[in-house]
Amino acid sequence: MSDHPLPGTPFLPRDVLEPFVRGYFDRKHTYQAMVQNHGSPLWILESATLKQNAKHLSEAFNRFFPGTAFYFAMKSNNHPDVSATLVESGFGLDVSSGVELTSALALNARDIIFSGPGKTNEELALAIAHKDRTTLLLDSFGELERLKALVSEPDATPPVRVGIRLTTNPNGLWRKFGILPEQLPAFWNQVKNLPNIQFKGLQFHSSWNLTPDRQLAFIVLLGKTLKKMPARFNQCIEFIDIGGGYWPEEGEWLQFAGTDEGLRQRADNKDVLHGNAHYRRPSTPIELFAQILFKTINTHIFPWVNCRICFEPGRWICHSAMHLFFTVIDKKNHDLVITDAGTNAIGWERFETDYFPILNLSQSALTEKPCDILGALCTPHDVWGYTYFGKDITPGDLLMIPCQGAYTYSLGQHFIKPLPEVVTI
Ligand SMILES: *Cc1c(COP(=O)(O)O)cnc(C)c1O
Repeated sequence: MSDHPLPGTPFLPRDVLEPFVRGYFDRKHTYQAMVQNHGSPLWILESATLKQNAKHLSEAFNRFFPGTAFYFAMKSNNHPDVSATLVESGFGLDVSSGVELTSALALNARDIIFSGPGKTNEELALAIAHKDRTTLLLDSFGELERLKALVSEPDATPPVRVGIRLTTNPNGLWRKFGILPEQLPAFWNQVKNLPNIQFKGLQFHSSWNLTPDRQLAFIVLLGKTLKKMPARFNQCIEFIDIGGGYWPEEGEWLQFAGTDEGLRQRADNKDVLHGNAHYRRPSTPIELFAQILFKTINTHIFPWVNCRICFEPGRWICHSAMHLFFTVIDKKNHDLVITDAGTNAIGWERFETDYFPILNLSQSALTEKPCDILGALCTPHDVWGYTYFGKDITPGDLLMIPCQGAYTYSLGQHFIKPLPEVVTI
């Protein structure tokens, strides 16, 4: 483990990794029994973990904020059992398309927010048809115009509830979302006297928040904007939705190729060797997130607007609730095995840059050994990892990658191999 002692991204400490791995080995009999019954490869969704996560996150924010609401971002894991469990836990759902809205309605979600750019007229119409349960988070002036045309009948009561999404970064690709804060007066002029559309709040979202810095900077800017807005505008605001992007407390675990130095080498078109070391970008615990966000919102927002604060967590909630299981099919060398699952199951080449431990449940041990663990797809980018935890590895062994609930299952693709079945426990 002495390779790449480079500045930049710190190592993932052994005393963090080992207890993490041990926790899943301790439950191996449960997992082995599920795979015995349902076959390999297999996804296992642990609804108890989802409920715990929902409780943990909402309690962290509720400790500080007087009024809150939580919406699970369905795109992070679109399995219906995930959303159903969160609805049971008192969460609303954050949907971003007609397909997701249809799922949320079928799950009897009572509180739905529909955000995202480029909503079609059909999608807007679906939201209007279910306006008792849906708040439309508008993305542009053009969208407001199309909505107006769709609700123009004089007897369209009650009105549709809308919010407006704000652009957090006017540069680069994130500018596709929302309108600029300085456009709020123009937006207010267009929305304030509409009989069938009721303006209720603001939304913004930034992702990959290992720390609250991006959110804090925007909250300060938003406070300056609200200070200048007409009192009637601020009185209409019932919610400010500050989005999701919270990062699980364990931090971001990386292969060398995903570290600052590895990314630099890749940008230079160098062949980046993987090595066996693991790295971690640390993240802020959710309790500290809540405390810091509250302090800033209390100082910069609450003097102008007294409203509920909404959250749209995806990754933080579902990441640790779903695990992937697969079996060694072929051992081609002492340090190279092929498995019955391919990375089409997770939809992207995640483990070329991200690290997650691979546990050999059939020969469990807390020692980590080098071995290329590769999928069965006809592409060399079909990588699970370069090490495993176990005594040895042989064909027939059941392997597990824990905590694959976020941005994997929903990204799975029908590429070469079928998708694994999902079992919920
Ligand atoms: C994707 C998304 C989220 C969830 O982001 P996470 O990083 O999974 O927490 C929340 N809100 C919006 C608008 C999104 O697009």
